[in-house]
Amino acid sequence: MSKPENTLIRGISELVTNAGDPPGRFAALTDAALVIADGRVAWTGPAARAPATDVVVDAGGRAVLPGFADSHAHLVFAGERSAEFAARMAGRPYRAGGILVTVEATRAAPDGALRANLRRLAAEMLRQGTTTFECKSGYGLTVPDEARGLALAAEVTSEVTYLGAHVVPPEFAADPDGYVDLVCGPMLDACAPSARWVDVFCEDGAFGADEAAAVLAAGRAAGLGARVHANQLGPGPGVRVAAEAGAASADHCTFLTDADVDALTSTPVVATLLPGAEFGTRQSFPDARRLLDAGATVALATDCNPGSSFTSSVPFCIALAVREMRMTTEEAVWAATAGGARALRRTDIGHLGVGARADLILLDAPSHAYLAYRPGVPQIAAVWQAGRLVAGSAP
Ligand SMILES: [Zn+2]
Repeated sequence: MSKPENTLIRGISELVTNAGDPPGRFAALTDAALVIADGRVAWTGPAARAPATDVVVDAGGRAVLPGFADSHAHLVFAGERSAEFAARMAGRPYRAGGILVTVEATRAAPDGALRANLRRLAAEMLRQGTTTFECKSGYGLTVPDEARGLALAAEVTSEVTYLGAHVVPPEFAADPDGYVDLVCGPMLDACAPSARWVDVFCEDGAFGADEAAAVLAAGRAAGLGARVHANQLGPGPGVRVAAEAGAASADHCTFLTDADVDALTSTPVVATLLPGAEFGTRQSFPDARRLLDAGATVALATDCNPGSSFTSSVPFCIALAVREMRMTTEEAVWAATAGGARALRRTDIGHLGVGARADLILLDAPSHAYLAYRPGVPQIAAVWQAGRLVAGSAP
């Protein structure tokens, strides 16, 4: 049997590794090279010291980054809500109830239509450099519809999240406790086999602290890790609930008290910021500087969904984070790669240290800063996933 092929990428102007010392910081090498073997990063270092390999790719003075880890997306749905977006931009405020429009369309859609939409969005993400993404249910809200959504999500990612507690569906409007019992009981039993995570929308108009804690506890008893939609539309208990449940991530974090910030710095909960949602709802952006300066671990993700944030573009979120949230370009790129990996409790992605999965992006630019410096411009020249070229073309 022949030896598996290994590949050298040389001519890298800037190689973002996130593999510095101490760990947990942005780190990059200039005039660098990288070797891929068996789908993993086998070597990184100065181009002049690169070892011989079977295949050589010349990056031509461009930057190489870890693939993006988008830790928050809602991709199993039917229909679209552009009219709602347009109305909102014309002055009508966003209400959580808009989700029900998508629930109705999703329930009515055949499997094939949901699968086609999901695959289209997954392919769109890959072309934009996202090599790992999380995908939630939450537009079915019946036992069979939630189970179907998660089975479909599991076809395209291993980071599958059960979000039966997205909103109380209309048929339970008079009995919200009954719906929580369903989410924690028969719906969970049907969904847990396809899922890795459980999530809850802890917000006024969705689920309160006690309900959210119950959903997370039931999910954890079924072997699922916890994540929370927290403090998006106003101050509330979401971050506290996430910290008490030992959640991997509290997502949105737009309205935080000092106690919330303390909870995010004194526990391993990642603060996942989703600026696409603030962009799409014209809310004020989360205070990323306050979190970073306090020492919280911050991730950036798209929140891709048809209502509040219909973008699949991590580069767009990086540009928003830098321009609107005063994150440095290094912080924003770290948050969208290593930060997303932390939010998913993954150590094999989000960095390009030796042994990492060879998920990487060749940027059509000399440095990571161009992601924010040239907003809206397609700059992802090529994408490798586990060492395999999956989008764009190698030079
Ligand atoms: Zn969300």
